[in-house]
Amino acid sequence: MSLRARIAALIEAQGPMSVAQFMTISLLDPQEGYYATRDPLGAGGDFTTAPEISQMFGEMIGLWLVQAWADQGCPKNPRLVELGPGRGTLMADILRTAAVAPEFLADLEVVLIESSPVLQQAQAEKLRGPNGVIGADISWQNQFDDSLGDRPLFLVANEFFDALPVRQYVKTERGWCERMVTTLNDELVFALAPVPAPRAAIPTSFEKAPDGGVYETSPAATALAEDIARIVANKGGAALIIDYGYGEAAGFSETLQAVSGHRFADALAAPGEDDISAHVDFAALAQAGKRGGSSVFGPITQGMFLANIGIAERAEQLMQTNPASARDLLTATERLIGNDQMGTLFKALAFVPPVVDGVAGFAP
Ligand code: SAH
Repeated sequence: MSLRARIAALIEAQGPMSVAQFMTISLLDPQEGYYATRDPLGAGGDFTTAPEISQMFGEMIGLWLVQAWADQGCPKNPRLVELGPGRGTLMADILRTAAVAPEFLADLEVVLIESSPVLQQAQAEKLRGPNGVIGADISWQNQFDDSLGDRPLFLVANEFFDALPVRQYVKTERGWCERMVTTLNDELVFALAPVPAPRAAIPTSFEKAPDGGVYETSPAATALAEDIARIVANKGGAALIIDYGYGEAAGFSETLQAVSGHRFADALAAPGEDDISAHVDFAALAQAGKRGGSSVFGPITQGMFLANIGIAERAEQLMQTNPASARDLLTATERLIGNDQMGTLFKALAFVPPVVDGVAGFAP
């Protein structure tokens, strides 16, 4: 039975499911979930991410992490955690660059949070194989949890939060009703819950939404951001979250999207086959970071963040050592920071302990 048929059978048996539950099953089902079964990245896959575009992305982030560690007096036993490491490219570039600070690497523990066995395998090959990073103490966990709360936490998440499930509520004459997935003539379709959600589920700022307006929220994302911020505040460290999303208060529209072979698709058409994600609500993550007790910097655009930490200078340096690749380096830089490319749509957000004065890249 296809995943779509299994979801339909579940709905027949139990009634409509939330958009969040649909997303979770589509992406993470152990047998047929999108991430459980494939490597979605690169030209032959469904989408390409910043670390896959250029090594410069990971190098700049590696320097940023080492700088944040140095700013905090080089704490002993740091732990470097990456959420959703994909092919392991970003982590490989970070670790290679962090060699500028042997003391950081000396007692570093690396933990990769990855639910997909296929991608865990790819990461292990990248980081431990013949070209891997020798000596780093690397382990895997399926999810972020409290066991990561006992050391200074240096955390990076690129294109991870967009994969976390969202719930959606639509404003109607009878109140805010949750958007559900149900079946109609053997198809999966959206439908509204007949009973409105409790008033308290909807922020007061949404009162002015028009009928048909949508409140989209990711409780999984905000809870995780708050947990991370609490550890950073208590134990030291720094967290950097980069993703596509909106930085200001959310609009009244929904952002769930499916992508297949680098093209947009119908979100309900092929669960488990297409990537499903939603824009990240950075204002909500920033608030969650403050609730966790961290100082929060950003969100600012990815373009501004990378420019502030010197990506243009790095590109220049690489061009001098390798003039033949000058054109590729310019193209990659433009893809990462150009306004009509990833530079504006993608945002960066940082958490640091409140005792720290600031953090590189987020100058006011
Ligand atoms: N950061 C990488 C990959 C982004 S794709 C890059 O920039 O190239 C999203 C990654 O998050 C994949 O590795 C996917 O398997 C993982 N992932 C998605 N949802 C997850 C979840 N709920 N728990 C753990 N890992 C998850």
